[in-house]
Amino acid sequence: MENKLREYAELLVEVGVNIQKGQTLLLFAPVDHAPFARMCADVAYENGCREVVMMWNDDHMTRAKYLHADDAVFDEFPQYRADMMTMYAKEGAAFLHLISDDPENLLGVDSDRILRSHKASGQKLLEYRRYQDQNVFPWGIGALSSPKWAKKVFPALSEAEAVDALWDKIFMACRVKGDGTAVEAWRQHAENLRKHVEILNGYRFEKLHYENALGTDLWVELADEHIWEAGGDCTASGQDYMPNIPTEECFTANKKTGINGVVCASMPLCRDGNVIENIRFTMENGKIVKAEATKGEEILKAAISVDEGASYFGEVALVPYDSPISNSKTLYYETLFDENAACHFAFGKAYASNVKGGTEMSKDELKAAGLNDSITHVDFMVGTADLKVTGYTHDGREIPVFIDGNFAF
Ligand code: ZN
Ligand code: ZN
Repeated sequence: MENKLREYAELLVEVGVNIQKGQTLLLFAPVDHAPFARMCADVAYENGCREVVMMWNDDHMTRAKYLHADDAVFDEFPQYRADMMTMYAKEGAAFLHLISDDPENLLGVDSDRILRSHKASGQKLLEYRRYQDQNVFPWGIGALSSPKWAKKVFPALSEAEAVDALWDKIFMACRVKGDGTAVEAWRQHAENLRKHVEILNGYRFEKLHYENALGTDLWVELADEHIWEAGGDCTASGQDYMPNIPTEECFTANKKTGINGVVCASMPLCRDGNVIENIRFTMENGKIVKAEATKGEEILKAAISVDEGASYFGEVALVPYDSPISNSKTLYYETLFDENAACHFAFGKAYASNVKGGTEMSKDELKAAGLNDSITHVDFMVGTADLKVTGYTHDGREIPVFIDGNFAF
């Protein structure tokens, strides 16, 4: 176990954010995971990190605040915190977020408080987000098994067994065996992802058609100058990094107003402690004109109403049905894992890097390029074993992209 944890810390710090000599690391971690956070800090310093700036967080404190803090607090986001994030982003520090949230932590909390809080932080962090869009700094996320999360995933197991079982799943998905091969295995996997990206970019599809027995029948126009990406990213100054470990997706940007038809989610969506089931969106000219769910419909409607762009899509992602996370047939209640279990879309903000020259574009230029903008970005899964995706090129060719849930090439 100790070996696997150490290897996982190396993977997140050396491949995830790829810490460089003289670079500052902002490390966000739950207080309950102090030992693992210390391990990450040690790895960072061994790699010549300038300083590890520690940012602790805690589920209990977050929940207590939402339940009991003064109501005005939820319309504020402290300027000093925005300044701090912006300052480190601007200097190109690495941001590593360790997460192990209880999926039900915010259950029963006033959703209006959550919404206002997201709005307040979104507005104060605009400059920080712009640096992120422009790829000024490397960032990454790593998930850590914890009792409440593990019990949610494995309700039939004892708490200790569940925590171990979830660690096993995390290590499997991240290709960590404890024998020092994770970094190499990860580079191999990244190479496979790159091959699919190359093929997709080669076709320069105008639109994709999604169909399955669940009821999805959706036409998706891609942004004219769209770029497919996967796994690895690179900062403007040339530092490679891998924001999401694990990752199985190839993703790009749709044209904001170019989505029509019906799309049905294939997995529940976990949002602020609430589970939304059987989502069904009806789309017209890119906008969600009807949002239905058999459970959590009100939460869903609130999530697509935080601003104008929240009711439009911003991401189109392809994930083979036969991927390690999908094959584990486990609902993780955590987007980092669940988004890699299936093809998905996101409602909300598009990634600037998904359009040619996008990272150097202004907000208006990104809009003109067809990209959606919002303070939110929420993935929801649509992939199934029978999913068929057909690509249409500008010169009228019809190319099978997905057959029976997996890449056709
Ligand atoms: Zn995605
Ligand atoms: Zn996404």
